[in-house]
Amino acid sequence: MTDPVLGDLQPSEVRVRFPPSPTGNLHVGNVRSALFNWAFARHHGGTLVLRIEDTDLARNTLEGYRSIIDSLHWLGIDWDEGPEVGGDHGPYRQSERFPIYAEVAQALREEQAAYDCYCTTEEVDARRKASGSKNQGYDGFCRDLDPDRLAVWQAEGRTPVLRFRMPEEPIVFDDLVRGEVTFLPEHVPDFAILRANGDPLYTLVNPLDDAMMGITHVLRGEDLLSSTPRQIPLYRTLQRLGVGNGPPRFGHLPMVMGEGNRKLSKRDPGSGLLDYVDRGFLPEGLLNYLALLGWGIAEDRDVFTMQEMAEAFDIRRVNPSPARFDVKKLEAINSAHMRRISLPDMTERVIPFLVEAELVDEPITSDQRSLLDAAMPLVHERINTLSESVSMLGFLFVDEQAFAVTDEIDDAGRDVVRASYDALADLDDWSTSTIEAALRETLVDGMGLKPRNAFGPVRVAVTGSRISPPLFESLELLGRERSLGRLQAALA
Ligand code: GLU
Ligand code: ZN
Repeated sequence: MTDPVLGDLQPSEVRVRFPPSPTGNLHVGNVRSALFNWAFARHHGGTLVLRIEDTDLARNTLEGYRSIIDSLHWLGIDWDEGPEVGGDHGPYRQSERFPIYAEVAQALREEQAAYDCYCTTEEVDARRKASGSKNQGYDGFCRDLDPDRLAVWQAEGRTPVLRFRMPEEPIVFDDLVRGEVTFLPEHVPDFAILRANGDPLYTLVNPLDDAMMGITHVLRGEDLLSSTPRQIPLYRTLQRLGVGNGPPRFGHLPMVMGEGNRKLSKRDPGSGLLDYVDRGFLPEGLLNYLALLGWGIAEDRDVFTMQEMAEAFDIRRVNPSPARFDVKKLEAINSAHMRRISLPDMTERVIPFLVEAELVDEPITSDQRSLLDAAMPLVHERINTLSESVSMLGFLFVDEQAFAVTDEIDDAGRDVVRASYDALADLDDWSTSTIEAALRETLVDGMGLKPRNAFGPVRVAVTGSRISPPLFESLELLGRERSLGRLQAALA
């Protein structure tokens, strides 16, 4: 029996691709596609190809290209063929493949699988109105163009687009996620594959490169479902011309929805990967969350690693219904991963955030490093993103002149601060336990305060905020001089 996903392929013959356009900040929906392709390739022991779809030279920048490569490295998604690693099917940047596209386009024209179309949009619209047709798009007018009219249009200096000739039959395919999908011919008109200036379009280069690169499975977002009925006959034609092995299997991943039940668009805040990098999310947390947009490892479990995902991944268990991008859930998953990473690992990852906030030097000095090593155990279990280290640890690294108290201390609080200053000023030994004993004795036993009322104002005075690492440890790390100085400043 042939395998429902692999057909006659050996698992190691699986070839999938991630083909982003380098227009900047990767969309989280694209990252989800990259992840599912990665998991599919790793699950089967196949090949993941990274292909850069940069034929739109005006919109695609070198910066956009670098950003994709850096983002994939940051995520830990590795590829087997493509930029940086090479492979037998290159070049892997479409901007370097224009001669191939020109040659194939010419072959399609010669085969009459594609034809020159000289119509303007206005003419197509006018004909549609006149005929009363409800079909959108092109009407096939230039399929058999009358030679006289052709001569007139050419004399006018019109330059044609190249259009692919769609078959007259419905296009039916078995989607790995959605089951059988059918498109009727009246809904899929002949489409342009070259612009009038000769530049190739996505409609040509995407399936052509899939064919040339031996792609066996295309897993991509549902927003691309409508390209599939155009691509299938193109893969078939290319196969007839000796290019590729015919259409790959398709699996269209569920739409990622934003606020208000709309598709999460590139313009929505929080739709770009870099937003989450900057906010200190872990790649492990983000990928785990993105995996849940359509897939799950088990009913009762939603925290897992990429390796676990790769082992368990089954494209047929992807749910076709739209998935809502829920930042709260992402935060919860991320903090579960924060709990899983070791103290030394978290320390390394926190440093760039402290550098960015100008709290430590770049590279971090050895004094700063010792202070950080001493402080990290206090926050290791308490922060939910790496960037929270900045607000939690800032008070230790900030210049004394720049230190500012952000929460308020009222009159009663000032009495507490004064008493604390007196209790701590002549401590012999500045350590967590002696500090704690002195403050408890003075504030709780002496003044009869509840611990929260007692320590709150002290916390604000020395750390600047009501939210901080544990107080007595913080005072020890801050040191006698700075601690007393801040208590005094709070009284002024
Ligand atoms: N370059 C296209 C995109 O980024 C690729 C779509 C596809 O997977 O076919 O949307
Ligand atoms: Zn035409």
